[in-house]
Amino acid sequence: MTTNPVGLYLHIPFCEKKCRYCDFYSFSADENTKQAYVNELIRRIDKYGETLKCKADTLYIGGGTPSLLAPVQIERLVSEAKKVFLTDDAEITVEANPHSSLPEFLKAAAASGVNRMSFGLQSSNENELRFLGRKATPAELENAVKSAFSAGIENISADLMIGLEGQSESSLLKSAEFALGLGVKHISAYILKLEENTPLYKMRDCLALPDEDETANLYLSLCDYLTSKNTLQYEISNFSFRGFESRHNLKYWRCEEYLGIGASAHSFINGRRFYFTRDINAFLNGNEPVPDGDGGGEEEYIMLKLRLAQGINFDEFEKRFSHPFDEKKKEKARLLKEKGLVNIDESGVSLTRNGFLLSNSVICELI
Ligand code: SF4
Repeated sequence: MTTNPVGLYLHIPFCEKKCRYCDFYSFSADENTKQAYVNELIRRIDKYGETLKCKADTLYIGGGTPSLLAPVQIERLVSEAKKVFLTDDAEITVEANPHSSLPEFLKAAAASGVNRMSFGLQSSNENELRFLGRKATPAELENAVKSAFSAGIENISADLMIGLEGQSESSLLKSAEFALGLGVKHISAYILKLEENTPLYKMRDCLALPDEDETANLYLSLCDYLTSKNTLQYEISNFSFRGFESRHNLKYWRCEEYLGIGASAHSFINGRRFYFTRDINAFLNGNEPVPDGDGGGEEEYIMLKLRLAQGINFDEFEKRFSHPFDEKKKEKARLLKEKGLVNIDESGVSLTRNGFLLSNSVICELI
């Protein structure tokens, strides 16, 4: 049985409209479906509480667009999670997008204990937002973040996207400046990936996306800009002011345990991985999650930990796996250090910023 506090994730698969790049499990739904889904989430929270008997020190309500829930629904979810799982000091994050009833939602969320919001900003450039099929304008995004501050939630994260059609270094940095100007404490910046079965993927041959080198330059410029503004790059794609790292997401990269509830949510508990299928009806009908094999092995640990700026600490590695970090891997890391991709000393190994850019191939080389 798990002893350390886990991370609890609840998936809300509802969106007003599908963005053109999005592969997350989400769709528009009527009020009855939302109500039935929230009821089922609460039933499953109680059920897992009885069987796992563990605590959670983070709750992340993601989606989808959780802020499309009614104020009373977010209150019910947070209060049930608190009753069954959460420690008193839990980080409680909710993802949100601008919409007309957001201020009421945010007031209810703050009153129920939500202390962190994550907004899907993506860009402050209207053409780039249109390219992505995002509904909100920059002015609406600004109002949404202001509403969160007014509700008393100050720990705010914003997502940005790199590698968009028509994006220049100047437009990307303007988006970053816009986000920081709103007072956000954390920025996640992901490179656009064309996922199969999305409208953008189907249009891929007609898109004029930046090429690999241009995208790499955009990424590096953004890293330089954000760190020049005193944020820390603590993960390949994540930046925050000191003390505002996402405690929940750190659990994934540290290979720690988490419980995901909701259609398409994944879990890693007691060394086992399992997930709910991308099927709301299966979830509403009480179907159990699907086993997904063992997790937390050495390769997985190396892959995840090297996403973090801190990388792998050799003592921690030895404690977890009861043997030292492999000498052959250290030797490979020293060769990669000569290429400027890896830092290695007697305490551990981590990737440089150029190593982050080539993380997939660098990590493959190491493992
Ligand atoms: S709002 Fe988020 S989850 Fe919903 S469609 Fe857009 S990217 Fe996907």
